[in-house]
Amino acid sequence: MRPSPLLALLAFVLVAAQAANAAPTTIPDAALKTAAELRERALADTLAWEITEGLTTEVGPRLAGSDADARARDWMIAKFKALGFDKVWTEPVTYPRWVRRSEHAEIVSPFPQALALTALGYSAATPEGGLRADVVGFASLEALEAAARDAIEGRIVYIGTTRMDEKAGRGYGQGSRVRTRGPSLASGKGAAAFLLRSVGPEDTRLPHTGVTHFDDGVAPIPAAALSNPDADQLERLLQRGQPVSLRLALDCGIEGEYTGANVIGEIRGRSKPNEYFLTGGHLDSWDLGTGAVDDAAGVAITTAAARLIAQLPKRPARSIRVVAFANEEAGLYGGKAYAESHRREIARAILGAESDAGSDRIVKVTATVKPEARDAIDRIAAALAPLGIAYDRAAPGAGGSDLSAVHAVGMAGLSLHQDTTRYFAWHHTANDTLDKVDLEPLRQNVAAYAVAMYLAAEAKGDFGSKPGAFAQKEP
Ligand SMILES: [Zn+2]
Repeated sequence: MRPSPLLALLAFVLVAAQAANAAPTTIPDAALKTAAELRERALADTLAWEITEGLTTEVGPRLAGSDADARARDWMIAKFKALGFDKVWTEPVTYPRWVRRSEHAEIVSPFPQALALTALGYSAATPEGGLRADVVGFASLEALEAAARDAIEGRIVYIGTTRMDEKAGRGYGQGSRVRTRGPSLASGKGAAAFLLRSVGPEDTRLPHTGVTHFDDGVAPIPAAALSNPDADQLERLLQRGQPVSLRLALDCGIEGEYTGANVIGEIRGRSKPNEYFLTGGHLDSWDLGTGAVDDAAGVAITTAAARLIAQLPKRPARSIRVVAFANEEAGLYGGKAYAESHRREIARAILGAESDAGSDRIVKVTATVKPEARDAIDRIAAALAPLGIAYDRAAPGAGGSDLSAVHAVGMAGLSLHQDTTRYFAWHHTANDTLDKVDLEPLRQNVAAYAVAMYLAAEAKGDFGSKPGAFAQKEP
């Protein structure tokens, strides 16, 4: 029996479709020439600086859920429109609103004196008139975990890990684990309040805030970070072996739910406008500084890079989507909301890279993509090399803080790693202000994003984004 021509044709179509799926993703030579031009234009551009200056001066600190949060959204919508983005819209993001009103701490005995501290995000308030209790100190989260309840009940728990030092391997991850886990653990054992050493390397008396999290069923307690010199002072007192009594007065806490928004601006692609490169930064900041390095710079870098692409005589095939994410600081709310509402069509987000580690130079690129797209990433990395950016071909790249949630639902990720030597001393402190942002490294960032975004948007083939593609294995 002769096979039916229709069946033969169907078989051919299926095989061809499979081959197309497995075909390597490529970057056309013509695109590399345009990318080189973009790189040079970015290195002379001032838009990222103007956006960073504008947002930090005209809005200032942007605590999620505050009046300034709403002003920042209006500011960003107007900015995208003024820059000629083709489509500008918002998507709602809901979260518990936390407010900070005042904070004060002092040693009552044995040697009365004030201490510099700041409440952590989602800290509870102390009772009216403040709280007075003895301090029990621990050297680590594990030591607190091992401690008996009666050593903790009614006391102020202090965890004094060694001061952060990236070079010595005492990194941000280690310290922020104490910040996120410590208060809940202490509350579960009956502590009256929780203090930790600031998660930062700085020697100023400016404490370092950040979010904490109370497990379900655990009562929120007052939780705050001492500046590094104040943590040193408290530790010297504890080492003297006498009881150390503190008074804390923190007026802060959760005031209901708030609905903010991710603010989104898009530059439409030439031939596949429904597919897009996903980029951006977070629009919110902590309230202590003006959020210049964390993360006005990230919003500015990615917006400026998209604008340079919009100004090309010929648009790339795909769109460039810039998201100014809502409330990253208190728990990646904007990124999670984006991942949730776009998860079914995540294949359209061909590749993503967010800027959220300050404004200093990008030193390294990494990516997590399907194997057939690795050659295309090699070409993107080669186009970034003239900017002094190294390529670690084996290391993963989830795309950045907010995009980690989007990556987890299946978006391929590209990570442009910045030099964070200076960043950790400033972010989350009152010192996060515009004077820390320098024009030349900012331009290098814009150049890197413009090159990577343009080349990915012009690629023939995809990078492997699809629902569940890069699902994390349970640890
Ligand atoms: Zn940030």
